[in-house]
Order: sequence, then structure tokens, then C-alpha cells
Amino acid sequence: MPRVSSRFFMLSPDRMRRVPRPSAELVEQMRTDALEMTVFDVGVGETILLRRHLLAVLVDGGSVVKKRNEELGDALKKYIMGEALKLSGIVASHPHVDHLNAISTLLTNDGSSILADEVTYFDNGESMGTWLTETLGAVLADLGDAIEVVHVGFSGAQFALSNDVRIALFVDGRWRPRPAYRSVFMSLDFRHARFLLTGDAYHEYENSLLNSLAAAYLRCDVLKITHHGSEHGTSKAFADWASPRISVASTHDDGGHRLETVVKKRLSALGQVYDTQTTGGDIVVRTDGVWRTLGRHAGVLYEVEVVRPGRLTPV
Ligand SMILES: [Zn+2]
Repeated sequence: MPRVSSRFFMLSPDRMRRVPRPSAELVEQMRTDALEMTVFDVGVGETILLRRHLLAVLVDGGSVVKKRNEELGDALKKYIMGEALKLSGIVASHPHVDHLNAISTLLTNDGSSILADEVTYFDNGESMGTWLTETLGAVLADLGDAIEVVHVGFSGAQFALSNDVRIALFVDGRWRPRPAYRSVFMSLDFRHARFLLTGDAYHEYENSLLNSLAAAYLRCDVLKITHHGSEHGTSKAFADWASPRISVASTHDDGGHRLETVVKKRLSALGQVYDTQTTGGDIVVRTDGVWRTLGRHAGVLYEVEVVRPGRLTPV
């Protein structure tokens, strides 16, 4: 059985405090009405699930550089089925195998059973490369009308996970140097809470977005740290503008996917920072987005949970 540990925080515009575990009644109330983000501990790669009640959005689904990751795809499908979730969106932040190589397996062999009535697949429109075209591209083509494919451009895209979770997606197509890294950025608004997910990005791309109309969407309470904590992402200008209170990275101890000191320091100055390598498990952030008073503190209650070992981690 995995071991689960939790911490609770109250966030308000001017501060963040760790608070003692609230009453069981309040925890239950918050959890059953929450927006939840899970960053799975998948090693080199990224696999994230956002859920509200029984609807979910998958943001990337991959790990390890290989053509197809069947183990992860099967484990993810089992998890989604076990939780009785339906996917209404799949967001491919950028076309790299370590972010997407489990999705073809997820969607084949009864894969449509985990899809909601209407499903949209969002990507940045860049070339998938040979391996992903042969696997994921073929599966998406086979699904035909069961899934709508949208290439997110500079004018962005929007969809609703539920009537109270609005999602904005944007890509800055003006930035040319590394087309694959024009990651789809994703902002989720839920009551008094805002989450931002950033794929893999470089400083120059962040700066380009900061200087665009998308800048307003970059502010957040919860940040999925870009590029596995690489120092080539999360510039000081970006971090200061976004000003997240809870930041989470998908990391691995292979040298190239570590949460680097400069990024950790920069984000720790703003709030709490978590990464999957250090915690050795899945990181779950949940909130009901409700403004409330708890003891002497007013704000929005967040729970950060670590599940060890990760539920999709091969044993
Ligand atoms: Zn990556």
C-alpha cells in the first residue's frame, strides 16, 4: 500500500501559511468539491492529471525516451478506470516522446471507454517526429470523430472542464528558435484559485509570452514548473510575474531532469516547492477554491499530498 502524507496551507493575496490539519469534516468537504492536480512520479518524463469530480484532463502522458511506453499507458488506463474518471481533454504540451509516448497505449484496446462524450486533443501543431507519428498519430487518426484535434495557436483556445473550471490554452508562435519547445501553456481558473501548467519552455519563450496578451494568464497560485526544473526555464522575470505559492516539478535524478538550485531558490522565495524526485512519489495539489476563515486566518485552503511510491511508478 502506498504511504500518503498531507500538508495544509491557507493562501491569501498577501501571504501563505502552513496550517494544522483542519477538522475531518472540513477536509472531507474540501476534498469532495476540489479541483485536483496530480503530478505522477514517472521518472524522465511528465504525466499530469487534472480532475474535477469525475471529469479529467490529461496533460502529457509519457516517460523514458522510447517509441511507445506500454507499461505507463496501461498503468494510467487502469488508474483512470479505477477512479471511474472520464477524460474530456488531452493536452500535449509539446511533441517529445518522454511527454507523449504512453498516450497511444492509453487510447487503444478499449481506450475509448475512458473518454467523455466530447473529447478534445490539444497540441502546438508542431511536427511529432517519426515515432510519435507512427504510434500516437495513427491512434488519433483511427479514433476519427471520437476525438477532436485542435492545434493551439497564438490566438489561444479555451474549454471548460466543468461549469466552474475554465481553461485557457496558448502558444506563442512568434518564437522561432526551437519550434518543438513552443509549449502549450495552460491556465485553469476555479473560484478563487488559479493553476498554470507550462510544458517545457526556455526563458526566451517565457519572455515572449510575458510580452504578449497572454501575460494576464501567467499569474497563478499553483505552478507546474517548466522543463523539469531546468535553469533554462523559470526566469526571474517569469517567476516574479507568475508569483506562485505552490510549485511542483516532474524530476528525475539523471543529471538533466533535476530541479536546479537557481530555480528552487527563486520559487522558494515565493512559496512552497515540490518535485517528484525529492519526494519520491506522486504530488497531489487540491483545493475547493473557497474563500474562508480558519482560526485567525482568511484565505483559500490547499492540501498538498505526497503518495509514495507513485501509483504509476513501475515496481
Ligand atoms: Zn520534458
